[in-house]
Amino acid sequence: TDMIAGIPRSRVQAIAQREADRYAASRPKAAAALKQGAGHYLGSVPMHWMADWPMPHLPLVSKAQGAKLTDIDGHRIDDFCLGDTGSMFGHSPTPVAKAIKAQAARGLTYMLPTEAAMEAGRLLTERFGTFRWQIATTATDANRFSLRVARAVTGRPKVLVFNGCYHGTLDDTMVELANGTTVNRAGLVGQVQDLTRAATAVEFNDLPAVEAALKTGEIAAILTEPVMTNSCMVLPEPGFHAGLRDLATKYGALLIIDETHTISSGLGGYTAVHGLDPDMFVVGKCVAGGLPTAVWGMRQAVADRFAAYNESRAPGHSGMGTTLSANPLQFACLAATLSQVMTPENYAHMEAGAERLATGLARAIEKHHAPWHVVRVGARVEFICAPGPLKNGSEAHHAHQPQVEAAVHTALLNRGCLIAPFHNMMLVSPATTDRQIDRLIAAFDAILTDLFP
Ligand code: PMP
Repeated sequence: TDMIAGIPRSRVQAIAQREADRYAASRPKAAAALKQGAGHYLGSVPMHWMADWPMPHLPLVSKAQGAKLTDIDGHRIDDFCLGDTGSMFGHSPTPVAKAIKAQAARGLTYMLPTEAAMEAGRLLTERFGTFRWQIATTATDANRFSLRVARAVTGRPKVLVFNGCYHGTLDDTMVELANGTTVNRAGLVGQVQDLTRAATAVEFNDLPAVEAALKTGEIAAILTEPVMTNSCMVLPEPGFHAGLRDLATKYGALLIIDETHTISSGLGGYTAVHGLDPDMFVVGKCVAGGLPTAVWGMRQAVADRFAAYNESRAPGHSGMGTTLSANPLQFACLAATLSQVMTPENYAHMEAGAERLATGLARAIEKHHAPWHVVRVGARVEFICAPGPLKNGSEAHHAHQPQVEAAVHTALLNRGCLIAPFHNMMLVSPATTDRQIDRLIAAFDAILTDLFP
């Protein structure tokens, strides 16, 4: 068809071109620096997904503080991407910057704990509930290790995940539904395993499908986000989480809740705010204020089963853990974040700002009669270029409009607002001001005026 997301394709293309030209014209220093230095990297980017940002070329950041970025061309940008949650509490929160400075002179990694490690353990339980904790460096690893424990204690092979989910780059979850059957996800690089031997995918919000999968007796764990945040944003229907809990218990599978993004929900994450009761709990990204850290924990009952398993296990490598994890810098930042950054006051500010943002964006959408909608999970807001609400990963997949989204992203950046790439996500940090939020709403409204004249 000639329409995308309610807009004639030719108009989307014209606006995308206009915005790309404007972007390129305003960033000559970045273009020159990239031309000089980027060629040393594979594909000219230090991380392959940096090539997927929608602008004609990358900006180079000179500084970030709070909710502001400055690039080398002198643009001051309101940052609503915030490292896709890594910096959800703002760039370099003061308590974390101080903790880094203090630890910097005391050693960065030594395979031994510190007093701050003891403090961090206590704070983790205080914030997230009674779990027996372990430290990792990425949420990918935290999920990977959680799954190993779940398989170990249940003696079962498979993880149950939801179609369209993302839990990091662990292979175990890289499956999807094709005509109702679980298959390896399309696009995986160099994957030679049949991942369906150890994973089953069903649709989010489909409890009968969850039960059917559990009935096979092969499922060690259900691994889920409380809200699907990685394929647009899909909210759980009423009773879905209670159903997951009951079904996991009934069929002897563990329930692993990955809070890496939904930590935006409020103090203690979605689990605390909505009273979920997982067997295992994972959170990464912003948990140490942006210093690479993730944590995973299990209930005492699971820890007891794991201890028994360990006693019967042959001596040798566990297959878990990495050398630089649980280092003293992580503990310093973790303790600082949990005690001084992840506070009720900061969450209240984030919640109010995100409400303001979501309301403003929804009003603009309504004003322009765009067939779009807005979803919010605490400090996390997303506009979706299709009608809503979305029920599951398949619907989210069809709602995604990459061409329109790319044009909007670049246009927003030209107006001083950065949002998360690959989807339309915006975060409100404790440092984000109402003025910044209102500027983003005004920029969004201006772009919609062009798209829906
Ligand atoms: N879990 C969820 C829900 C995520 O969204 C992500 C990353 N987007 C991860 C885990 C993996 O985090 P990392 O890339 O830090 O390993």
